[in-house]
Amino acid sequence: MAMTKSDLPAQQECVPTPRGRLVAKQLDRTFCGTDTVIIDSHVEQELNVMTPSLEYPDTVIPQFRYQYCPMCKTQLIRRAMFDDNIPLVTCPSCKWICTRSNLTAAVSVATCKEGIVTILPSTLPSETPAALPAGLIEYGESPEEAAVRETVEETEIIRCLGWSFYRNFAGWPGPLVYFMYETRVIGRNLRGSDEGEAKVYPLEAFPDIVCPERSGSWGAIRAYLAGRSAE
Ligand SMILES: [Zn+2]
Repeated sequence: MAMTKSDLPAQQECVPTPRGRLVAKQLDRTFCGTDTVIIDSHVEQELNVMTPSLEYPDTVIPQFRYQYCPMCKTQLIRRAMFDDNIPLVTCPSCKWICTRSNLTAAVSVATCKEGIVTILPSTLPSETPAALPAGLIEYGESPEEAAVRETVEETEIIRCLGWSFYRNFAGWPGPLVYFMYETRVIGRNLRGSDEGEAKVYPLEAFPDIVCPERSGSWGAIRAYLAGRSAE
């Protein structure tokens, strides 16, 4: 959902106190038509106690609602920078652009002779205690590498089961694109993960054993079982 210019609040309307308003006016003047913004430490201190003035759509989770430039600490603004006219959050001083995109994750249906490897986080309900090995894909890492790294045992990739989109606007980590893989366990010793113990369940236990609230695990096991029944 793109914000239009009329959605954007004027700086002066966003600050609650006369003191804050004064700071906002100073900033407005500084921002006009200049490439370099210098904010002295007195003004910067005032900014830190102001209500955040850069508003975000509800779909942006609180952790991603940047107010200040992470590179030079200048207060961020929103303006169209490219010919698509979509307003972007950017730094008027150093030109840093806030490029948020959906995070990506990999989830693995790791098979072995005895069944499928699961993780048992203590937070899941006892009737559906299992999740599949999964995790965020690191910057610069391929989805396949993440799927192998997150699996609790040495594995090899068998095939990609597709991808799914988890429309999560409730909190960290926000909207997620999951890449789903079937992998095969090579080693012999399951080692668990930070989240919980590893346990192998026989194929017949699936999908009932998997917690439906684990959207990545739920999507991957369904894709795996659908592929098996189609064969
Ligand atoms: Zn900056």
